[in-house]
Amino acid sequence: MTLNNSSEIDIVKANATKINEVDFENLSFGNTFTDHMLVCDYKEGKWQKPIIKPYEPFLIDPSAKVFHYGQAIFEGMKAYKDENDDVWLFRPDQNLERFNKSATRMAMPEVPEAIFIDGLKTIVDIDRDWVKKGLGNTLYIRPFMIAIGSGVIAQPSTQYRFMIILSPARSYYSGEVKVIIAEHYSRAANGGIGAAKAAGNYSAQFYPQKLAQEQGFQQIIWTDDATHTKLEEAGTMNVFFRIKDTIYTAPTSERILDGVTRKSLIELAKREGIKVEVKSVLVAELVEAAKDGTLKEIFGAGTAAVVSPIVGFQYKETYYELPKIENTIALQLKEKLTKIQYKMAEDTFNWTVKI
Ligand SMILES: *Cc1c(COP(=O)(O)O)cnc(C)c1O
Repeated sequence: MTLNNSSEIDIVKANATKINEVDFENLSFGNTFTDHMLVCDYKEGKWQKPIIKPYEPFLIDPSAKVFHYGQAIFEGMKAYKDENDDVWLFRPDQNLERFNKSATRMAMPEVPEAIFIDGLKTIVDIDRDWVKKGLGNTLYIRPFMIAIGSGVIAQPSTQYRFMIILSPARSYYSGEVKVIIAEHYSRAANGGIGAAKAAGNYSAQFYPQKLAQEQGFQQIIWTDDATHTKLEEAGTMNVFFRIKDTIYTAPTSERILDGVTRKSLIELAKREGIKVEVKSVLVAELVEAAKDGTLKEIFGAGTAAVVSPIVGFQYKETYYELPKIENTIALQLKEKLTKIQYKMAEDTFNWTVKI
């Protein structure tokens, strides 16, 4: 099933735009939405015709399974506008693939490419004025799926709703990020849902994250649940460690989400001749490297912030401060990646897709 044109999608345009009410210079991340949303329901074993319509709340039954059993997954991606007013997506095929892996793990139906990708292109095109030009301006795209079938019986739903909503965003600077290494709590476990972008993985983090914040740390570095000796992710980002001149990141697993930013940074680093190794770093190795001065950088990688440098980490009551260095690998990679996304540098990987 391919949708070659939007005749396969019903479109009901908003009567008026909210765009003039928005202060694009002072957006707080994830709080402003565009004029339209895409909705596509699954029932009787089939996806129905998608509709793009004005952004608005909707009603579902209080017994809908999403509220009781947590069948909810999502994606996070961005659209960028170049100097010629063309709008671009970054590796949307990767998000579709991951979305459907998440769906399978949560016993939800896969969303066809014709709905996910063509829906995405159509809605972003309709709301393209919301994508502002200039480095740092983006349109954050949030595709998600929830179980809307009713009944408080613990079974997978037979009805689902797939939606896409869009939120204009400015690149965000998270301030100085200090992290604490997890010794008790876990984000994910072998055999669990850590590799799925499932809503429940986020709620599972909120309490440990709150405890960390009370101690003065913005993020938790998650370790493996069985031994708490291997470094895995930084909050809801993948994580890289630079020891001497090599950057390390853990291989993806059932506990580690396969981030598009992570894999793009690995390929970029290789192209740029930066030494990169996909290998688990042990907490003991990190502490050792911090002590002997070979630990140079730690940074998170994810769509929202692209690269988020970390200034220091706490482990077992000791805080280790990272050296302040110029021209970090984190910032070099961030600049290279963003320039590809905004079409300011040649996309040698064919990652960008025009809308
Ligand atoms: C979304 C997410 C990431 C980052 O993935 P990107 O595709 O780079 O945005 C990393 N870790 C977790 C747990 C996530 O949910």
